[in-house]
Amino acid sequence: MMNLILFGPPGAGKGTQTEILCNRLGIPKIGTGDALRGEIRKGTELGLRCKTLMDEGKFVPDEIVTEIIRNRVNSPDCRNGFILDGFPRNLAQAKKLSEMGIEITKAIAINVPDDLLVERVQGRVVCENCGLSYHAVNAPPKKVGVCDVCGGSLVARPDDKPETVRARLATYREQTQPVVEYYASIGLLQRVDGTKGIQATTEQILLALED
Ligand code: AMP
Repeated sequence: MMNLILFGPPGAGKGTQTEILCNRLGIPKIGTGDALRGEIRKGTELGLRCKTLMDEGKFVPDEIVTEIIRNRVNSPDCRNGFILDGFPRNLAQAKKLSEMGIEITKAIAINVPDDLLVERVQGRVVCENCGLSYHAVNAPPKKVGVCDVCGGSLVARPDDKPETVRARLATYREQTQPVVEYYASIGLLQRVDGTKGIQATTEQILLALED
């Protein structure tokens, strides 16, 4: 059983590393941002409720994301563990996680300086259909504008505009960094350097998981 949390500001490579680790470790990802973008694509009431907040880079209410987690963690495919991508993002959400009786095996924080984050987010595109993420330079699709996996169109995220990214970064420092420090204080956190490329980051994380 391996219940992991991946932390990292927008553009740190959290989503990319989660995908890679899920394949390597054979456990699923639970991504709250992905789940919410899925709701928006499907045009559900929940999606509509969250879209404006998300486009502005603001958090959606804790109850909504907590419910996404609650519905997922007990699914049969999560019995050997899972990777949380995008949750918990504030201390209240971390408290919910422990109230649900979910034990965390390890938390990983991917560190990248702000300037590089803004630059990376600029090149990011996501598949409109399946939500997979690409980067124009660092992780390009085989064919420009087309998803390798499902053939869907690749588009920029509305919340990746430079000014919105800066707001999301500020929120990360304010709300999420205390959660990272909480996991450090209970001895579950490992920090890795996310500036050295995709593969090098994966290697550091795999090493950190053995510790
Ligand atoms: P992400 O894909 O993780 O960058 O998430 C995209 C957006 O979804 C965030 O900017 C928030 O608006 C919303 N979101 C995702 N996860 C959470 C969460 N745990 N708490 C609040 N809002 C969230």
